[in-house]
Formats: sequence, structure tokens, C-alpha cells
Amino acid sequence: MNPISLIRDNIRALEPYSTARDEFKGGDISVWLDANESPYPTGVNRYPDPHQKSLKTRISSLFNVPAESIFLGGAGSDEAIDVAIRIFCRPGIDNMVAISPSYGVYKVAADINDIKIREVCLNPDFSLPVERILEAADADTKIIWICSPNNPTGNAFPREEILRVVENFNGMVAVDEAYVDFSDKGSMADFIATHSNLIVLRTFSKAWGMAGMRCGMAFAAPEVIRYFDRVKYPYNMSSIIQKELLKRIEIGTADHIPELRNQREILADGIKNASCVEKVFPSDANFILIRVADAGKIYDYLTKHGVIVRNRSRLPLCENTLRITVGTPLENQRVINLLNAYGTDLHLDRTSAVSRDTTETRISVEVNLEGKGESKIDTGLKFFDHMLQQIPHHSGISLRVVCKGDLEVDEHHTMEDVGIALGEALLKALGDKRGIERYGFVLPMDESRAMVLIDLGGRIEFQWDVEFTREYVGDTPTEMFAHFFQSVCHAMKCNLHISAKGENNHHVIEGVFKAFARALRMAIRRDPFSYAPPSSKGIL
Ligand SMILES: *Cc1c(COP(=O)(O)O)cnc(C)c1O
Repeated sequence: MNPISLIRDNIRALEPYSTARDEFKGGDISVWLDANESPYPTGVNRYPDPHQKSLKTRISSLFNVPAESIFLGGAGSDEAIDVAIRIFCRPGIDNMVAISPSYGVYKVAADINDIKIREVCLNPDFSLPVERILEAADADTKIIWICSPNNPTGNAFPREEILRVVENFNGMVAVDEAYVDFSDKGSMADFIATHSNLIVLRTFSKAWGMAGMRCGMAFAAPEVIRYFDRVKYPYNMSSIIQKELLKRIEIGTADHIPELRNQREILADGIKNASCVEKVFPSDANFILIRVADAGKIYDYLTKHGVIVRNRSRLPLCENTLRITVGTPLENQRVINLLNAYGTDLHLDRTSAVSRDTTETRISVEVNLEGKGESKIDTGLKFFDHMLQQIPHHSGISLRVVCKGDLEVDEHHTMEDVGIALGEALLKALGDKRGIERYGFVLPMDESRAMVLIDLGGRIEFQWDVEFTREYVGDTPTEMFAHFFQSVCHAMKCNLHISAKGENNHHVIEGVFKAFARALRMAIRRDPFSYAPPSSKGIL
């Protein structure tokens, strides 16, 4: 089959735009006055290499594909999809065939180019319906799209089956291998030398960790790639990206592939027995498709707990499915915990809000034990604010404290009431305390030593052994710190032992707040595997 015969007449006859750098044939040039560039260096005052020679040479050895067989798209592989359509398909006349469910961009690109697309549903087990795909094609079908591993189903198709399509179709077959690095089934790139109607799409966006870079690739026979280069925008990849990519390929941004594959299995394993999960589909990619009882509800539930996944339920064969990208071990553990806790009465939403309104103070405190240490603190006492700031910063709890107190009288009410409101908010956010580590202890730091021990078991006890040599630090009276922590302790119903020593009063109290935050961080943390209350009595 000669792919050139498939190319639109106008493209075959195209006189491509000739850049200044195309017309320059080499020589010892030191004065560049051919491209109307600015002569003053900005790092990017010169046009980039329109042929991306150095980058293609590197990519050629990286993927073991000849440089003449490589097209690079500076808008990702989405660009290669669009260019392929524009080379082969006559708007309003030709059509394409694509599998379904699959990546949405084929249809959008087809619609933009006024090309009809015939979607062939996968078999119910997501395997490739080779015969039906071939039957769907007619004389005006120019491209068949196969995504493998397929998004969103996650499975890769055996290469022999894809090859059967390639060998039995009189047109181009484009195989989108965005996720092939996560699969054992191998790349179709091995066949571009022998099958000139094959186009293989690859990308740096997924396994290579450079989605923000925007670089996609098409591999095909050199006579096909020549037309990609004629149709593309002349300078379709900036010099910054060409340079950065070369640099980052050397750094080895794809190092996480084994870890992500391993985590994919851990995630699949961790959620397969959750009561809300009906099926975990096998995956050759860096995501997992799962079928659940009610995808909308579970999507909302995960979102409410700060985790966003993709609801794929609208796609054929994908009713009530969610697509979950494999994240870091901690992120995956979070998903495992959440899905396993769905429908149980486990107190997962560890947030609370407490308001205290007295004649002396007006306070609102908001706490999120699952937060990321975000904070807004304003009590009117600058040094006290600075100390309170240590709590979210060192515990990871998100904390909002706003207090309007009678500071014109003195600091007493403000500090005491903030302590009470904070303690109440923490206690409320802890809920039934199931699964928490319960104990926390810390012994740090330099010339000052602060020691904080905490037990969230519920028995109230407060021990304070901190000496100050000054009455004030900043605008805050030092004697009030004992009172503040005592208020927290009582309101939070915990056992709190604090002792500290040091030369510098500021360091001493800062050490206490930091150590308190650290101890709290340990004690509130939930053991991901144990949801029983951590007490021999079975109840806290
Ligand atoms: C993510 C993805 C791509 C990558 O697109 P880029 O434009 O290169 O970021 C291509 N195809 C499929 C199926 C994808 O899921």
C-alpha cells in the first residue's frame, strides 16, 4: 500500500512555507540578518530550529526510531492528531473510524476538520473488535484510530490484533500509545519500517512526567513524516522547549515508571474489596478504571474529601465507572481509605467550626485535621499570632482563628478564650477518634529545649514546667501561655505535659508551640489500616 496515494491532492501539491533558516544552506555565518529578528540577546531573540534537529537526534536514539521517522508537536500529541487529519482527510467528504470508548480528542479534531467519525464499540470485555472495525471502513475512510493502552479502559490490545487491522486496511492506521511505557505488551513502533500505513503516537506527557512541556510525537515511514513537516506550523516548537526537553531527558524524568506500575497494583488491590467497588478493570496504563454502584455519588464523596477523579460514566460500556490516576503512595492510600470507608459510619470528615461569643471576646475557629497547613490567624496580638501560626505550620492541620477581644482591658480574655475555642474545635474535629494514633511526644531543640507529651485518650491532666525570665515577649504576657495551653487542654479533654528550658524567652515559647504542633500531628494521625479506637477498652 502506498500511503502517498491517500494524501489529499492539495497537500501533495503544497508548496510549504519556506523559513529563512530553510533557505540558508550553510556556510560560515556570523551576522544573521535574514529573519527580521532582534539582534539583542534575550535568550530567545532567535527563531528556533524549525526541524528540531538536535532534539530529533536524541529522541531517535531514545526510542530507537530513525530521525526521519519522527514528527514533533509543540502542542502535544494532540497536534499530531490534527495534522494527520489535515494531511489525509478531505473535509466534508472523507471519514475516519475510531474505537469507542476511547480518547475524546479524535472526535473533536474530526469535528473541527468537518470529517465524519464512525465509532466502533469495543467488545463488552474491552477487547478489540478487529472484524467490526474493518467492516466499518469504506472507500472514503482514511484513518482508523486505535488507542492502546486504551484511555479510559486501561487495557492494551495484543500487537498481533492491531497488526491485523493495519495489514487489512487500505488506509492509515494511527495507534495512540500515550501510555505504552506502563505496559508489557510492547510498542507498534517496531512496525513502522515495514508498514508504511502505520502512524504511532507517543507523548512526553504521561510516563515522562512532562505534561506541562507540551511535546508529542508521531512515528511513521519517512515519506509520511515528510508531509507532517510540510503541514505543521513552521516554528511549532519553541526554542525553550527544545532546549529544556533535551536537558530533562538526560535527567531521566521517566524514572518513576516502575514505582507507578507497582503503585497501580497496590491501588487496585487496596480498593477491590471495598463494598462500593463492583469491579476493578485490569490496567496497562497509569490509571485504573473501576465500576461502582453509583459513580456520581462516589465522585462527589471523593471530591468532598479533596480527591478528584474522572467520572467516565457517559461513555459507552462505561456506565458507573470512575477513572483514577495512579498517584504517590500517600495519595493512593488516601483513595484506598476513602473507598473502603464509603458507606460506613467512619468519621472521615475531620473538620469543625467553633464560635464563641462573650461580652469580652468574639472568636471563630475552624479546623481541618486533613488539611495541608493552610492558615489565617488574627487575634490582635502580634506575638501570639506568630506563635499560633506554628500550629498549622508544624502539624499540617488547617487552622483559621479570628478573634476580636477586649485587648484594651488586657490580653487575658483573648488568650484564654482562643485556647478554649481551639481546644473545642480540635475535640470536635476528632469526632469518634477511631483509628487515631492517640499519643504524641516530641523532644527537640538547640539551646532551648521544649518537651510536649500528649494523650488524646480523654482524661484531662495538665502539667506545665516552663520558666520565663521576662514578663512580655513582644506584645504578649508570658504568664498567659500557661493559661492558654491549660484552656486548650481542658477544652480538648486531653492529657498535656509541657516543659521547656532556655536562655531566650522567644525561643522557649516558640519551641513549645512547635513541639505542641508536632505532638498533635502524631496523635491525630490515623492509622490507615486500623479503624478501631486505640484503647484496650474499645472506646475512648
Ligand atoms: C493524555 C493522552 C494523550 C497526550 O496528549 P498530549 O497532547 O501529548 O499531552 C494522547 N492520547 C491519549 C489517549 C491520552 O490519554
